[in-house]
Amino acid sequence: MKDKYILNKFRKCFGQTLKIYDSSLVSHCGNRFFLAKEGHQKFLYIIGNEAYGRLEEFRGKPIGSIEIDGYDLIAGKAELNHINLKLMQEIFPHLNPSLCGLKPSFGTGDRLGMVTPAHVGSFRGRKIFPYFCQQSVRELNKTGRSWQESIRDSIWGVFEAGYKNPFGADADHVKDMGDLNAAIKNGFTMFTIDPSDFIANGLGNEENREISKRYDSIVEKKEIERSYLGKKITIGKEVLQFDLDSLKFIAACYYDAIKHVVKCYKFIEENKEGNFDFEVSMDETESAISPLAHIFITGELQRNEVNFQNLALRYPGVWEKAVDYCGDIEGFSKELKTHAQVAKKFGPYKLSLHSGSEKFSVFPIFSEETGGLFHIKTSGTSWLESLRTIAAVNPVLFKDIYDYALNNYEEEKKSYHISTGLSSVPAITRFSRDEYGGLLDKKECRQMLHVTYGAILTATKQENYIFRDTIYKVLDENEPVHYRHITENIDKHLDLVRI
Ligand SMILES: [Zn+2]
Repeated sequence: MKDKYILNKFRKCFGQTLKIYDSSLVSHCGNRFFLAKEGHQKFLYIIGNEAYGRLEEFRGKPIGSIEIDGYDLIAGKAELNHINLKLMQEIFPHLNPSLCGLKPSFGTGDRLGMVTPAHVGSFRGRKIFPYFCQQSVRELNKTGRSWQESIRDSIWGVFEAGYKNPFGADADHVKDMGDLNAAIKNGFTMFTIDPSDFIANGLGNEENREISKRYDSIVEKKEIERSYLGKKITIGKEVLQFDLDSLKFIAACYYDAIKHVVKCYKFIEENKEGNFDFEVSMDETESAISPLAHIFITGELQRNEVNFQNLALRYPGVWEKAVDYCGDIEGFSKELKTHAQVAKKFGPYKLSLHSGSEKFSVFPIFSEETGGLFHIKTSGTSWLESLRTIAAVNPVLFKDIYDYALNNYEEEKKSYHISTGLSSVPAITRFSRDEYGGLLDKKECRQMLHVTYGAILTATKQENYIFRDTIYKVLDENEPVHYRHITENIDKHLDLVRI
C-alpha cells in the first residue's frame, strides 16, 4: 500500500477537522506515523494494522478506522510530549541529534519552540550541518522554558518537516554544572562552555600589580613558562613570540577561565554516554582576543586534553545583536586570517562566530578565510521575523508588544552588548499600521525588540500572560506566512556563506 494513498484516505475521513503535514509521513512495520494539527494543537497520528499496540505504547487514543483494500486499519493520535519523542527516536534514528565534528555548521535558535520546520526549509540542498536546536541558558531563563522543552520542540519540528539528514543540538553559553547536567540528561550533542565569569576583563598595562598578583597565584606557572616563553611561532608571514610580559598578561586574563572549561569538559566526559561536540566560547569578552592569546588558549586546552571542535573568539570590531558588523571590515578580515591559520596549525578546529544574526558583510569573509572550518550561530533573528509576521497580520497586537518592549528596554538591555539608547528608539505612535513591518528594518527598533523577548513572553497580569498565549495563537493561525518569513531570512544568511 502506498503511503500517499493511505494519507489521502485518512484525509477523506478526517481531513475536515485536521491540517495534515504530508512531509512528516514515515512508516515502520506497516504503521504510518505523521503529524497533523487539530485546532491549535499538533498531534502525532498513527495508522496501521498494529496501531492499537502502538497507540497503547504512545498513550494515544484511537480516533476511528479506515478501510484500505479490504483491510481495516486503525487510526489514532498521541501527544507531542518528550516520552513519545523518545519512542519515535527509537523507531526512527534520524530523529536523534548527532555529531558534527569539523563539518561547516550553522545554528538557528528557536526561542518560541515553533519555527524549526521553517529553519529546516533553509537547509535543504545545502552542504552545511544544521544545529536546529541551539539553546542558550540566558534564553531559557528569559523565556521560562526548559532544556527538555527546547530540544523536544525542535525535534518534533524536524519530524514535521520530514527532515532525515543529520542535525545537532547545542547547549549554548553554559556556565555551570547544573545547566550542563540538565543539557546532558536531555540529549544535547554539543556543549558550548562560556567561562566569561572567570575571564579577568579590563586588565590594562596600568594594572601591572593586578596582573602580577593573578599570575603569581597560578600554581602551574613554571610549566606555563616552559611551554610558551621565548617560543617562536610562525603564522603565515608573521612570527609571534611570548615574552614574559605578554605571557603574564594573557595568563592573568585567561588561565582561570581555561581551568573552568577543563572542569566542565571532564564533567561531560564522566556524565555523558558516547561522544559529543565541544565548543569554548570566549566571544563575550570586553576586548578582542589577540592571536597570541588564541595560541595560549588553544595550547592550554590541549595540554589539559580538552578535545574541542569549535572555538568562539571575541573578534575586533563591534558585534552587536540583530544588526550587521560595525567596524573596519578590512582589519577584521586580516585578523581573522591569522586566527584561521592558528586554528589550522594547532588544530584543526573550527572558529565559531556568535551573534551571527544579520552579519551579512561578514559571512563571505568568515567562511572563506576559515576554509570551511567554521560554525555560525544566529538566534534572535528568527524571533524578529516572528514579530514581523505579527506586524503584518495583527498590527494591534504588534503595537501593544512594541509599547511594552519599549517600556522595559532599559532593564532588558543590561544583559546584552547593545549601544542603542532608549531615547533613540522611536515611539510607535509616529507610524501608521502599514509602516509597522518596516520598523523591523530599523536598527534601533530591531535591537530593542531583539533583547526584550523575555519581558514580552513572560509578562503577566493577574496571573495570566499578557502576550505569550496570544503570540503563539496568532503565529499558529498564520503559520504559512510565519514559516515563509523565517525561511527567507535564514536563506539570506546562508546564501552568503561560501563553502
Ligand atoms: Zn555567544
